[in-house]
Amino acid sequence: MRKEFLPFSIPTIEDDEINEVVDSLRSGWITTGPKVKRFEEAFKAYVGAPYAVPLSSATAGLHLAMLAIGLGAGDEVITTPMTFAATVSMIVQTGARPVLADIDPDTLNINTDAIREKITGKTKALVPVHFAGQPCDMDVIFALAKEFGLAVIEDAAHAIGTEYKGQRIGSLESISVFSFHPIKNITTGEGGMVATRNESQAEEISLMKFHGMSREAWKRYESSGTPNYDIMLPGFKYNMMDIQAALGIHQLGKLDGFIAKRTEIAEFYNTAFAEVDEIKTPAHVPYDHRHAWHLYTPLIRIEKLAIDRDRFMEELKKENIGTGLHFKAVHHHPYYRKTLNIPPGELPNADYASDRILSLPLFPKMSMGDAMDVVESVKNVIARNRK
Ligand SMILES: *Cc1c(COP(=O)(O)O)cnc(C)c1O
Repeated sequence: MRKEFLPFSIPTIEDDEINEVVDSLRSGWITTGPKVKRFEEAFKAYVGAPYAVPLSSATAGLHLAMLAIGLGAGDEVITTPMTFAATVSMIVQTGARPVLADIDPDTLNINTDAIREKITGKTKALVPVHFAGQPCDMDVIFALAKEFGLAVIEDAAHAIGTEYKGQRIGSLESISVFSFHPIKNITTGEGGMVATRNESQAEEISLMKFHGMSREAWKRYESSGTPNYDIMLPGFKYNMMDIQAALGIHQLGKLDGFIAKRTEIAEFYNTAFAEVDEIKTPAHVPYDHRHAWHLYTPLIRIEKLAIDRDRFMEELKKENIGTGLHFKAVHHHPYYRKTLNIPPGELPNADYASDRILSLPLFPKMSMGDAMDVVESVKNVIARNRK
């Protein structure tokens, strides 16, 4: 057993990120400014999006994207039960109603046949989540959207660097929302980005993110700006700071290297667990893609064990291995149990995954030795707890 605790995730922050933040602090320009602009430009170039809006979080991005497509009371939005609370809570915040469609049992992405079954006259949008960094089947989702006249917002919190049939997520014909929270593939501390091909949508999101002030409002304290400003609509305070973007500029340059390292570790896990009956390893989607490997999420076949998933995670902690939970299904949380009234058995694949899933350590700074420790500890916990 390892002596030191191995956390489930640690961000890779190096001297170039640190120096860039210090440079911002010393410059006297801390909040939204030239570095946010630089990060926005680099991000657009990386994902291949004509427009992008830097924000304080992906949650803020989901909120503004949903307002930009005009969601409100009486609308229904179809999304997946295997996501973080933010996806559904932002739907609720617009006044719309989240409708959950079941997942594919192997990839854990939303099932496109299940989406079709949930479409009603009230459906206004589809919000697929690229689970763990694997793309949803966007051709099918766009075809459904076209057939029924729906908007599409991609929750791409896991998907910076993900590719779908040769195209980067962020460059498709929808609004996509990225997260730079410390566990995500790149980090700005807290932070998010909305990418779109639609100029007026980008303009509106940009207005809403900062009090409804016109787009280049931050320049009003620069020599090229003027102190006067106009409020065009009642906005929010969702802007990204330069000290956040300072991290992002350098993180983005390292992203492909990070993904290569994550892929190496994930493939090692897949091979190591292939012969272990008690573990169902994550499956690849059947179409051309690049997996960004944000998470490594096997399912523990608890029916073969004397302990449940939560106990399994506790046993791993005793072995000094940290884990994460991505995710307990949305409809298993008290608020959504109460408000969505989903009948038992309605989302069987999500129920199955929700009770069995865990996230094993996966981050670029991990060594192969760390990954071997994880495999050994998982096998130890199984051996001690077989039925
Ligand atoms: C992390 C996450 C979010 C929220 O991202 P923040 O930047 O923390 O607001 C939204 N959706 C999913 C699927 C996530 O994993």
